[in-house]
Amino acid sequence: MPLSVPPNIPELKAIKPLPQDRRVSVVVVGAGLVGLSCALWLQRAGHAVTIVDPEPPLPGNGYLSAASFGNACTVALGACIPIGTPGILSDVPGMLLRRSSPLSIFWGDLPRLLPWLVDLVRASGQREFHRIVGVLGMLMRLAEAGHNPLFEEAQATHLKRPDGCLYLYRSERSFARAQRDIDLRRREGVRMEMLDRKAVKEREPHLAPLYSNGLLFNDAYRIDDALQYAQALASLFQSKGGQFVRSISRAIEPGDRSLAVRCQDGRAIEADRVVVAAGAWSRQLARTVGDQIRLDAERGYHVLFPRDGNLLSAPTCYPEHGFYMTPLGEGMRSAGTVELGGLGKPARPARTEIIEKMSRVLLPGLGEAGRTWLGFRPSMPDSLPVISRSPKDARIAYAFGHGHIGLTLAGITGRLVCDLISGHTPAIDLHPLRADRF
Ligand SMILES: Cc1cc2nc3c(=O)[nH]c(=O)nc-3n(C[C@H](O)[C@H](O)[C@H](O)COP(=O)(O)OP(=O)(O)OC[C@H]3O[C@@H](n4cnc5c(N)ncnc54)[C@H](O)[C@@H]3O)c2cc1C
Repeated sequence: MPLSVPPNIPELKAIKPLPQDRRVSVVVVGAGLVGLSCALWLQRAGHAVTIVDPEPPLPGNGYLSAASFGNACTVALGACIPIGTPGILSDVPGMLLRRSSPLSIFWGDLPRLLPWLVDLVRASGQREFHRIVGVLGMLMRLAEAGHNPLFEEAQATHLKRPDGCLYLYRSERSFARAQRDIDLRRREGVRMEMLDRKAVKEREPHLAPLYSNGLLFNDAYRIDDALQYAQALASLFQSKGGQFVRSISRAIEPGDRSLAVRCQDGRAIEADRVVVAAGAWSRQLARTVGDQIRLDAERGYHVLFPRDGNLLSAPTCYPEHGFYMTPLGEGMRSAGTVELGGLGKPARPARTEIIEKMSRVLLPGLGEAGRTWLGFRPSMPDSLPVISRSPKDARIAYAFGHGHIGLTLAGITGRLVCDLISGHTPAIDLHPLRADRF
């Protein structure tokens, strides 16, 4: 039985095309789901949009570098708990030292990571933690209002699989430890259902019986193919006159009357406004206009079991193992874990071996493993995204830093960025999401 009544949801006014004299030209840097959603919402308001990305999700392209490609495909509408929780200082050192832990680090990167880690610890204090849960809860309540119009217009609703998402706890003790977060989720209006051992077994008979309790997030859903969803958005964008430029943006050059996005191939694309939505790569671009942003990458992996998409009915996760097993059209995707170490370093096979091994323990029927993948979550220390004007130049908007929940929040981010650029008052206070909060 659902356990909670949702709190109020702020109203999002319909976006109508603006009068001609209020329309602007916009370059969006990055064709991940966040960039695509920004571009589509901006088009709805009548703006002329160009997207720059070396690898947009167009037929025949890779898209492998985007976190939007390889995630756990779960629109996790209950995910209002940040990664930094009170008690993190006592849990993390032990986790970092355990080889099979879902958390690992490139130790050589520790000095570079220190400011980010210090801010993570600050964000995990009781007061900050509770404040952050409130902000995330609000974004979660608006998430579907940001997604649905895009799903519908892109004719992609058939990709939604509304079967919820299941969390499992190995023992009564680990379930009891999760109570604080469950209570907070309830406070934020997240609908959940407690399942006993028998109910879990009935729902998911292929799971090894290594659980004492289950928690079903009723409103979460999976997207059967995140690449197909991105391609549907890209195709809609083009059909509405949007242009893709296949290149890497190296810098934003502010001029008196317009901005220029300088690309690797030497091109400079002029526009009235620029949106930086380049995921984990956004920090370097922001730096070119003088903004220092505490963004880093949380590396995450997936392993695909191509023949086993039918072994579960919904994304399933033991929080202590740090990955989801998501049944998809292409197979069972075990996706998650966190590796601190920034961009640029190659994948470490030991990390996917741990995911594969653990997946087999939890779901013994898994067959041969196929593709493995490394991706880069764009992460801020407080688990909140940056949805903000640049402090240095108000013509630049930032839309990145969504960490573990960028698929979930892509749509609402696009909508809020559209409000910023169109001069509308956003439906929520964006102060907690400002670029210069660290
Ligand atoms: C293992 C894993 C599991 C996850 N599971 C989930 C989940 O189940 N649910 C959820 O909500 N979230 C999940 N996430 C998080 C989610 O995938 C990300 O938060 C989200 O994809 C970020 O989207 P984005 O558009 O900001 O960045 P990306 O998808 O990374 O896109 C960035 C784009 O910018 C382009 N780019 C980079 N630099 C430049 C440049 N200089 N010029 C031009 N283009 C550039 C890249 O080519 C890329 O296409 C998961 C992440 C990982 C790694």
